[in-house]
Amino acid sequence: MERIKKKIIIANWKMNKGPQDAKLFFDEFLPCFKNIDEEKKNSVDLVFCVPYISITSALESIKKRNTKNIVVGAQDCYFEDFGAFTGEISAGMLKSAGASYSIVGHSERRLLFNETEEIVNKKVISCLRNNLKVILCVGENLEQKKSGLTEEIIKSQLEKGLNSVTALGLKNITVAYEPVWSIGSKQSALIEEVERAVQCIRNHVLKVYGQKAEEDLNVLYGGSLNLRNIFNILKIREINGGLFGRASLNSKDFFDIVNLVCKDSAI
Ligand code: PGA
Repeated sequence: MERIKKKIIIANWKMNKGPQDAKLFFDEFLPCFKNIDEEKKNSVDLVFCVPYISITSALESIKKRNTKNIVVGAQDCYFEDFGAFTGEISAGMLKSAGASYSIVGHSERRLLFNETEEIVNKKVISCLRNNLKVILCVGENLEQKKSGLTEEIIKSQLEKGLNSVTALGLKNITVAYEPVWSIGSKQSALIEEVERAVQCIRNHVLKVYGQKAEEDLNVLYGGSLNLRNIFNILKIREINGGLFGRASLNSKDFFDIVNLVCKDSAI
């Protein structure tokens, strides 16, 4: 089955760039991006997942330059809509601030902030309830990989993370395969490893939600992506894009990546 879809490129800035630095980034990035041929630009959707406090600044920069194909997202959200939850930000608040997406279940949240599968699932549901698109991260750690548990972990994270998500809800979910051992390292997963993981994600969705849902599903890869390895990863047929951490922080370097993805019809 041929899948001619837009590529989705996600920048996850993590805890980097306050409003001023976000503005500086876009002041450099957007003029270059606007110069890319319109048709090629339309083959890509760009999502900048910035710190909460930089959402408004990012949106202002994008609006000021009237740039299409770029939206802003958050890196997390809380699952309640409002109330006494000091320090938290709800999906509804993100939506009203102009965010279009939220990452949910990133391994740094799971690991450093003790996010359980149940919490991840509640966040997914609250995003869908508030019309915020979800980038749901799944992936195994090194120990699990060494024990041959990769597919089991992915399936279990999908099953729990998508608990009570309907086929309609799934339309607003993008799944990112992010092997924990690769994030922040120098080592991206091998092509065969990505292929196996993506097939596992697709098989699960096919089994639970059916063929149409599987065909419509966008699956991304993330983990030490850069200008050198993006081409081969995105050539994998079942992959619809990539999630970039470190490589998205420098405007010129990230532009080179985006430019490559826009220009190369082979990926
Ligand atoms: P990295 O981060 O590209 O710096 O490995 C990816 C991620 O955390 O999503």
